[in-house]
Amino acid sequence: MRSLTDSVANLKGVGPKRVADLATLGIDTIEDLLTYYPTRYNDFTPTDIESAKDKQKITLQGVVVSEPLLVRYGYRRNRLTFRMQVGNEVVIATFFNQPYIKKQIELNQQVTVMGKWDAPRRQVTGNKLLKEKADDRNEFGAVYAVNKHIRQNVLQSFIRQAYEEYANIIPTYLPETIRQRYRLMDRRQMIREIHFPQTQATAKAARRTAAYEEFFLFQLRLQAIRRAHRQEDGERILYHNDELKEFIGGLPFELTDAQKRVVNEICRDMRQPYQMNRLLQGDVGSGKTIVAAIAIYAAITAGYQAALMAPTEILAGQHAKKLAKIFEGTHVQVALLTGSLTAKQHRELLTAMKRGDVNLIVGTHALIQDGVEYANLGLVITDEQHRFGVNQRQQLREKGEHPDVLAMTATPIPRTLAITNYGEMDVSIIDQLPAGRKPIQTKWLQSNQHAAAIHFLREQLKQGAQAYVVSPLIEESAALDVQNATDLYNQLSADLEPAYKVGLLHGRMGTEEKDEAMRQFKSGELQVLVATTVIEVGVDNPNATVMVIYDADRFGLAQLHQLRGRVGRGSRQSYCLLIADPKTDEGKARMKTMVATDDGFKIAEQDLKLRGSGDVLGKKQSGMPEFKVGDPVADLKMLQIARADAGNLLGMSKWDQVDENQPLVLYLKRHELETHFD
Ligand code: ADP
Ligand code: MG
Repeated sequence: MRSLTDSVANLKGVGPKRVADLATLGIDTIEDLLTYYPTRYNDFTPTDIESAKDKQKITLQGVVVSEPLLVRYGYRRNRLTFRMQVGNEVVIATFFNQPYIKKQIELNQQVTVMGKWDAPRRQVTGNKLLKEKADDRNEFGAVYAVNKHIRQNVLQSFIRQAYEEYANIIPTYLPETIRQRYRLMDRRQMIREIHFPQTQATAKAARRTAAYEEFFLFQLRLQAIRRAHRQEDGERILYHNDELKEFIGGLPFELTDAQKRVVNEICRDMRQPYQMNRLLQGDVGSGKTIVAAIAIYAAITAGYQAALMAPTEILAGQHAKKLAKIFEGTHVQVALLTGSLTAKQHRELLTAMKRGDVNLIVGTHALIQDGVEYANLGLVITDEQHRFGVNQRQQLREKGEHPDVLAMTATPIPRTLAITNYGEMDVSIIDQLPAGRKPIQTKWLQSNQHAAAIHFLREQLKQGAQAYVVSPLIEESAALDVQNATDLYNQLSADLEPAYKVGLLHGRMGTEEKDEAMRQFKSGELQVLVATTVIEVGVDNPNATVMVIYDADRFGLAQLHQLRGRVGRGSRQSYCLLIADPKTDEGKARMKTMVATDDGFKIAEQDLKLRGSGDVLGKKQSGMPEFKVGDPVADLKMLQIARADAGNLLGMSKWDQVDENQPLVLYLKRHELETHFD
């Protein structure tokens, strides 16, 4: 029996070499081939010759009115000419060195000639000839992304063959009601029209169907996962309400309304008997850490363990310290599981975790590795920075007795990406900064205004400020990063010391050295901290009010926003100086955006506009799915609609028993087994 999962080797003309060639395009199965969509179409719409300009590229449609004449001259050179009637006019068509075309030209036959127009002579120099309606092979249009292993026409012929042999078993995924509502094609028609369109209009309609289908299927998968989790037993975390209230009451500040709201959302989820799967989104400095701490405290009052997973060891260390401080004087014991533990310490900690002797464990991926066991893990918090994809979150959820999962992310995610990347999660947003924060004033200076920046820095230091100075980023080389930071450190030390003390922080320093630098900066022994982007996340010194970023145009918007978020964390006015000579319009646009706003959501939307969705999160890191046809930014509306439709379908009772939906049921089954989402 034929199946779309058949190997391409089933096609005629596809032997081992071709199988390997096709694999270089990511094509292994018939399905892959059929959904290897064209990147564009050649436009063969006839040109109006009345208005065609001299030397313009044109497409002429007409009838052959003279026998073709082939003239050979010189070595392998030849010229083919014939006359064709185009509308009311007879023009001459000439093809150079394509003698084989002669066979295709017959008197009184319709042809389409593409080429360059010679207006005074009423001649077209053709480079391509199409026999219209010769058969329905229809050479119109589709152009594919190919590589050196496989040529355009070879790929086309395989796709054609696959379509001809498998068309009758192409299932239609989208339910009839949906197809009717949006006038979408059935899948067979869609695949035909996307590869072999009759007209531009049908090609476009087919792409519309394909885009919707992609969004719909993706959303269906995410939401099916989400529903499955809902039905799975999770722990009902019956936290101790009075104890929790007392803990919140003992904090040195009152929670913002936004923090209160999300705390309620999280606590409500934890009490439910299903597994929480929630994304906590909030701008830098919005106070996510304290919200996380409250959730942790709640879980612990109910007798559970909690784990916090950070993307790097530095961050894990910082979180551990911060939390230890927040939990001082409570019965929460914080443990840090990192690679820098000795074997003995490591073993002891694992035993303590397994026995339940520690109730809060902070660490990196190490937390979910095999061999790490918990006594009763009830809550897992991830501090994401986009570094964990759907699969890793999945892995986490499977740890222990289905712990509740709360994913924190500091970089505001535009709505579009939240829908695509986190579609399987519920979302809580802290959309308010703690009271008394003043917007950070941001200035953009050219590098020749560098002296002004130093002058400003000195003035601020005089008034008791502390400052971060971020050195340029060299993407290719961590060693150069360090070199840059060191040079800048030497220069600033020479400029500012002994009046002010300057420190250095970069990724190549040992943990102890780093900790010491941060401690000195936090305690005020250092006034200036020169750093690479290691300070991007997590470093918290509310007294730092000046951020200077060198070569700021080398950083992306999201990163600049993160860096700037290191200041403006206290009640004093903070400043950010961007020193940059951007060469590109995009670079300039980034600087202007930073100056114009410090609203992380606005910056994220702008980032998305400037760079496109693929780059914003970074595919590999984010688990961000790549769509073949749909563009989650340009087609946001469609994405939202598809999301709602997928939800509605899954919400219908016994939807999976309806005949029409069987292809979808199979589709979900098939993809359940996939380990990779991206
Ligand atoms: P985030 O993790 O969202 O970047 P943090 O949790 O680190 O933010 O909080 C930033 C700073 O604001 C911390 O110094 C924290 O103690 C303080 N903070 C948090 N919530 C409040 C609040 N409601 N009122 C005043 N300060 C707060
Ligand atoms: Mg934080």
